Parts: sequence; structure tokens; C-alpha cells
Amino acid sequence: MASVFGHALVGATLSKVLDKNQVKLLLILAMISAIFPDIDVLAFKFGFAYEHWLGHRGFTHSIFFAIIWSVVLSLLFGKSHKKIFFIVLFLATISHAILDAMTTGGLGVGFFIPFENTRYFFGCRPIQVSPIGISKFFSEWGVRVIISELLWIGVPCAVILIFKKITQKHSSTKKSYS
Ligand SMILES: [Zn+2]
Repeated sequence: MASVFGHALVGATLSKVLDKNQVKLLLILAMISAIFPDIDVLAFKFGFAYEHWLGHRGFTHSIFFAIIWSVVLSLLFGKSHKKIFFIVLFLATISHAILDAMTTGGLGVGFFIPFENTRYFFGCRPIQVSPIGISKFFSEWGVRVIISELLWIGVPCAVILIFKKITQKHSSTKKSYS
């Protein structure tokens, strides 16, 4: 995993950029969706090996899961905005797996589970893998994770959000002149 902060930030950014109505509930659900796939660390407690399809970075990190999860959430909470709920939540959920596939450690991500249990990493893996468990996070390892995520997740998200603010301002000034 990247850390919960890194994942949640990507979820929030996706919601801010794509949802023109800025629905608060969607913002919160997007952050939850971007973190949720790591629920599978519980699989270790139930005796599933890392490489099992239900193991860590397995089923809950797959494209199939991201589709089911976002369909269910958008039907439950989307009301008249189901389509944008689905798009944002799907992208937020799958962003988790994409970030994990760019980390330096662990096994790869089972993008194609349940159809295929191969684990994948991307060729480019600049993000320092985050430790599993809170106690290990408050260590030198945790500091390395924060620095790497600030650089590879924080900066890109900030640039996107600032760019959106500027273009928004620009289009609203244009409107007020027309
Ligand atoms: Zn993960």
C-alpha cells in the first residue's frame, strides 16, 4: 500500500475535479473508496496467504471489485447523480490499485482477479511502500513514506487542484463579462 493519506488524497482530488456539483457525500465516499481495498489486510488474520486471490492486494484491489463496489455505492447513495457517482467512485477505487502497483515493495496487484491471479507491478515504481500497521508507521520508514508520497502523490494532486481553481476562476470571470 501507499499510506491511507496518499490514497485518500487521490480520492478527494478525483471528486473535486470531476464532480461539478461538489457533492460532499461523494467526496467522502471517494476518500473511503480509495482507502477501502486495504481491508484485505484482514485476510492475514484469517490465514490467507498474501498470494491467495483473497489475500492482500488480491480481490479488493481488482478492476472487477472496483466496478461492483462503485455500482453498489452509486445505486445506494447516488440519487439523481448516479452516473458521476459511479465514475468518481470507480476511479477512486482503482486509483488505490494503481498506486500500489507503483510502490517499491510487497507483491504486485491482482488487477484481473477473479479471472486471473497474476500479480502486477508497473515498470515505474517511485512510491515508497507503506508499512502495514500503525506502530511501524511512526518510524524512519514512515518518514520515508511521507516524503515519497508528498513528492509523487501530494505535488501532482496539488497542481491539479490549483489548475482547476485557476480555470474555474477564469471561466467565471469570463461569464461575468458576457
Ligand atoms: Zn492496497
